[in-house]
Amino acid sequence: MSLKKLSIVVPCYNEQEVLPKSEPVLKEVVEQLITDKQIADSSQVVFVDDGSRDNTWQLITQFCTSEHISGVKLSRNFGHQGALLAGLTTTSDSDMVVTIDSDLQDDPQVIKQMVAKYYEGADVVYGVRNNRKSDSHFKRASAELFYKLMNWLGVKMIPDAADFRLLSKRAVATLLSYQERNLFLRGLVPLVGFPSAKVYYRREERAAGKSKYPLRKMLGLALDGITSFSIVPIKLIMGLGFIIVLIALFLLIYTIIQKITGNTVSGWSSLMISIWGLGGIQLICISVIGEYVGKIFNEVKKRPRFTIEQDLYHKKQH
Ligand code: UDP
Ligand code: MG
Repeated sequence: MSLKKLSIVVPCYNEQEVLPKSEPVLKEVVEQLITDKQIADSSQVVFVDDGSRDNTWQLITQFCTSEHISGVKLSRNFGHQGALLAGLTTTSDSDMVVTIDSDLQDDPQVIKQMVAKYYEGADVVYGVRNNRKSDSHFKRASAELFYKLMNWLGVKMIPDAADFRLLSKRAVATLLSYQERNLFLRGLVPLVGFPSAKVYYRREERAAGKSKYPLRKMLGLALDGITSFSIVPIKLIMGLGFIIVLIALFLLIYTIIQKITGNTVSGWSSLMISIWGLGGIQLICISVIGEYVGKIFNEVKKRPRFTIEQDLYHKKQH
């Protein structure tokens, strides 16, 4: 059996505090796998600088002077998902790619189990958290709610599997053939198909630095996940429309009866309520349609999803 090339893609956004800690750990994992004759000597850890404004890129270029480390720098901040995609595209010549956050919250030692699963025939190996104790109360509750909601909306996702996973070469190629702009890799990866496996790990605290996912970005990602993968919201609005029509019919009958029995003085209040009620509902409908129109708008533009400014990865290959 010939040895396969592994690339470990690490998105980094303003991570100067944590990188000096995570780089040795990731390097150690790769070197150990090479010594154990599990992966090819050309295997690498590839840091993707997602438009950081601190010293992240300087650190990465320093790391790159040693073997098995390389990096790419994006021209601006494209967000976590964009950075992951840039890393996957850059390393698509590898036989397998592991994506892992730079903050050591996901246990790098688990990569060895992922590689073992790859050799057993899995094209996708999900890293699943079996313990979220290190996450804040709010993060845990919101994540649980989100996975429930996605399930209810009919989006197939592996609960508690974030962006720590191994993908085989053909899984990456397939993933890259999905041309959509609104990236939600967590929802896309299960669509790729191929044999998959799971490995479990304990989610740790961030080794250093602060979370780069404020509530705003988290909500943005969740909204992307919902609107890129589900048309249930449109169906709900349709359902609501039907209910409203039924209520209107009922009101119509009611007013006719009132008219026949001679109680026509009342009416002003019900009229006001229906005007306001309908106005509100119409606004909701328009906003939902607007959300989808916005998606179409983005897709049609076919903008590049990332732009690499410097590429030490390919430079190192020659
Ligand atoms: N990240 C990125 N671009 C961004 C935001 C985050 O590349 O715009 C990276 C970040 O450096 C980290 C990973 O994505 O390696 C996950 O971010 P973080 O740990 O802050 O998220 P959390 O674990 O708090 O959800
Ligand atoms: Mg983190």
